[in-house]
Amino acid sequence: MLSKKNAIELRNVVKKFGDHTVIDDVSMTVAEGEVAAIIGPSGAGKSTLLRCVNLLERPDSGTIAVAGTRIDADNQIKTRDLARLRSVVGMVFQSFNLFPHLNVLRNITLPQEQVLGRSPQEARERGLALLARVGLADKADQYPNRCSGGQQQRIAIARSLALDPEVMLFDEPTSALDPELGLEVLTVMRELADEGMTMVVVTHEMQFARDVSDHLVVMADGAVLEEGKPGDVFDEPTRARTRQFLRAVDRDGV
Ligand code: ADP
Ligand code: MG
Repeated sequence: MLSKKNAIELRNVVKKFGDHTVIDDVSMTVAEGEVAAIIGPSGAGKSTLLRCVNLLERPDSGTIAVAGTRIDADNQIKTRDLARLRSVVGMVFQSFNLFPHLNVLRNITLPQEQVLGRSPQEARERGLALLARVGLADKADQYPNRCSGGQQQRIAIARSLALDPEVMLFDEPTSALDPELGLEVLTVMRELADEGMTMVVVTHEMQFARDVSDHLVVMADGAVLEEGKPGDVFDEPTRARTRQFLRAVDRDGV
């Protein structure tokens, strides 16, 4: 089998807030087309690690490479590299952050015009196609506050995809949603994974992590506790801390 290229490579990433080391020497690779899920207790550093991937947080040391653009935190970061890296990473957060004063389609066309310089016509065609893809073709002219949370998150996914990212990062995209509405978001994410999008998903949805991810990473205290095929990690965790976390999830359903 041909070995796939790595879409994301983190090497020895360290991030501190003051003297608190939040990411403690984490290395991780995600191959093109692969879905990595990150699970772990609150405060483990999952969000911070994701934010380091697109340099929303600047690591104190280590290297980050996405789709061939490499950034070494130990050197001066070039503006051009930063812009290039950000342009290939799409990110979806727990909160949807749609513009309330713009209709749904405009929320998706505006970034395309501003970031990619697309013509209004081109942005509109792409926007409508993506709305159809997330099952919301009929919402183009609505305002976000008339849409459910699940619909708003799907709009946020469409907005992100409209910028043609090479990789998509999701930070607990369903945590603010009722289970039923979360499900429609997870369905869209599953389709995206099936279409071959490279994805890193921080999630509390253990079933989704088990079913959809190719690679599961368990984090605690800023470090990778264990990682591997999701079935192996879920069924036979090697670390006591992982077993403890999975038991707590089972019990509390978080
Ligand atoms: P998780 O997403 O796994 O819950 P986070 O990455 O949000 O974890 O946080 C990891 C640790 O870093 C926590 O102890 C949190 O309080 C701390 N932290 C996160 N962001 C900041 C920040 N901007 N300033 C200071 N501490 C932070
Ligand atoms: Mg978090």
